[in-house]
Amino acid sequence: MPKVPKWMANAMESLFSGSYHPVQVTAVEDLASGLRKVCFEGDFSKSKKEFVAGNAIEFRINDTEFRHYTPSHFNQEAGVCEVWFYLHDKGPGSKWVIGLKPGQQLKLLGPGGKIKYDAKASCHVAFGDETSLGLFECLSAEARKQGHSFVGIAELDNANRPWAKVPDGNVVSTPKNDQEKGSYAIVELNKWLQNQAPERETIVFYLTGNAKSIVALKKSLLDQGFKSAQIQTEPYWSEGKPGL
Ligand SMILES: Cc1cc2nc3c(=O)[nH]c(=O)nc-3n(C[C@H](O)[C@H](O)[C@H](O)COP(=O)(O)OP(=O)(O)OC[C@H]3O[C@@H](n4cnc5c(N)ncnc54)[C@H](O)[C@@H]3O)c2cc1C
Repeated sequence: MPKVPKWMANAMESLFSGSYHPVQVTAVEDLASGLRKVCFEGDFSKSKKEFVAGNAIEFRINDTEFRHYTPSHFNQEAGVCEVWFYLHDKGPGSKWVIGLKPGQQLKLLGPGGKIKYDAKASCHVAFGDETSLGLFECLSAEARKQGHSFVGIAELDNANRPWAKVPDGNVVSTPKNDQEKGSYAIVELNKWLQNQAPERETIVFYLTGNAKSIVALKKSLLDQGFKSAQIQTEPYWSEGKPGL
């Protein structure tokens, strides 16, 4: 639901008021030039859904548009949510983030989405790009809490490769391949599967970021005999498409 008429966006806020949580921006910090962490505080006690690591949230960024983001940290009881935003400067969401200042009042929608930390698995492998680094931080923290292992593979623009060190966890970076999406990440993942992976049944994969890269990685995993139940997917963006 990236874009709806203003009257509909207003009506949704009234109809689904239980899912819209008033929050205040409490801090803004640049983790790198182009990667911004924003902290929000509010009352999430009335939320109908319990946050599970990997879940996403949504913001109404103007009268007619909504954008999804993923908390890097979410504490429902304490009313704290943090998000790592990639400032690609290609759309209104990115520009909206640049304008966020401490003290600003907003409404946060969610949590929800398709990615959910699977506590039955003991090894958690995440794939994504600049937009997924907050997800990596969240999954990695949850894995530590549960005594599980975590590996992140991030395909990053060359200038952003150092960002792989920003999440507190085991993250490796690969370059992007615009001709064959996801191909360098597939090589890295296969190397890890051959050399370091535990029993295959214990692994769960979370594939996020660019839609075409996700398709390529999922195909590669299925071709290698992994079950689709072990592979969670959620495209975060697709070339030429505003707000997924
Ligand atoms: C469930 C979910 C969770 C997400 N979590 C996060 C998060 O935690 N942090 C985060 O930064 N983003 C996250 N995203 C991605 C974010 O919503 C998109 O990048 C979104 O496009 C930003 O909106 P925009 O208005 O800036 O650009 P849009 O108006 O949506 O897009 C404008 C143009 O920019 C292109 N574009 C969008 N993203 C990228 C990109 N990464 N690289 C290059 N071009 C791009 C689009 O294809 C389009 O052509 C998430 C998306 C989803 C669906």
